[in-house]
Amino acid sequence: MTKSLRRCRWCGREFEPGEGPGRPPLYCRRSHRQRHYEARTLAARHGLGPRDALVDRTTLARLNDRLYVLEAACEDVRRDLADAPDIDAYRAAVVHLLEAALPLRSAFLEPRAIGEG
Ligand SMILES: [Zn+2]
Repeated sequence: MTKSLRRCRWCGREFEPGEGPGRPPLYCRRSHRQRHYEARTLAARHGLGPRDALVDRTTLARLNDRLYVLEAACEDVRRDLADAPDIDAYRAAVVHLLEAALPLRSAFLEPRAIGEG
């Protein structure tokens, strides 16, 4: 029998809860439980509400850059496939989109502080 996967409250990745008694874990690893605790504590100290998060400016800029690249690739593909594309055009479009999207696959915007709701 397979256990159902859970989603980590910190990083959002799915994980398989370990065996054992007690309530099911909320985090994929202990360090993520600790980081979440620290982020909530910092948020409370700064009066952040449930919709607020504090993130590193460089990390945010990097994520926004990647999103811009993906947006531009979508526009490229929309234009390239507008007029009766052949199979090679579709292949090139898929490759182009993958190149733009794959860097986002492992992207994780780790907040320094996150308000609790
Ligand atoms: Zn995690």
